Amino acid sequence: MQLKHKQIPVEFIQRLPEGMKLVTRHGKQFLVVDEVYGPNGESLMSENVRIHGERAIELQVTVGNSEGMFFVDSYWGSHAKLYSFLVDAARKDSLVTAKVPHTDTSLMVERACDIEGCTSNQSIELSLPGGRNKIYVCARLGCPGHDLEIPDMPEPVSETVSSINFFGAGSIDDHWFDEV
Ligand SMILES: [Zn+2]
Repeated sequence: MQLKHKQIPVEFIQRLPEGMKLVTRHGKQFLVVDEVYGPNGESLMSENVRIHGERAIELQVTVGNSEGMFFVDSYWGSHAKLYSFLVDAARKDSLVTAKVPHTDTSLMVERACDIEGCTSNQSIELSLPGGRNKIYVCARLGCPGHDLEIPDMPEPVSETVSSINFFGAGSIDDHWFDEV
């Protein structure tokens, strides 16, 4: 995927939803997910794992026959992940099933991905504080699809923020801040 840095809309910054924060790195503003929860209020922020200096989002996942943990970069638009297990290369396009870590609580919902060419109708639902605002992440490994649902935000503003992607899935690159 092409590197695509989009400015965060001013309207979004003015109404920044609880659970998201702005950080400045190398003179640029980035949106960071600071608090997200499962359906029963379980915090999904890792206490131990940080990516790019911020707490990662921790998910228990199943990919094919493998099960383990994903630690997802909380920088909005980055798709860097750490895996606690090996994902077979043949599974790189598979759908992931995510749960609240150490529980049987599913995070999966039926929601079609709007990335062109992606046929996934499964998404991972993350709730921002208060439970009204949601983040949906496409369940297909390697798909950058992610959507913000914020009822109090004008639709075009949410759409612009949803379309922020620095690049597709990949390994962590410590230099990516310099490139945007
Ligand atoms: Zn997708």
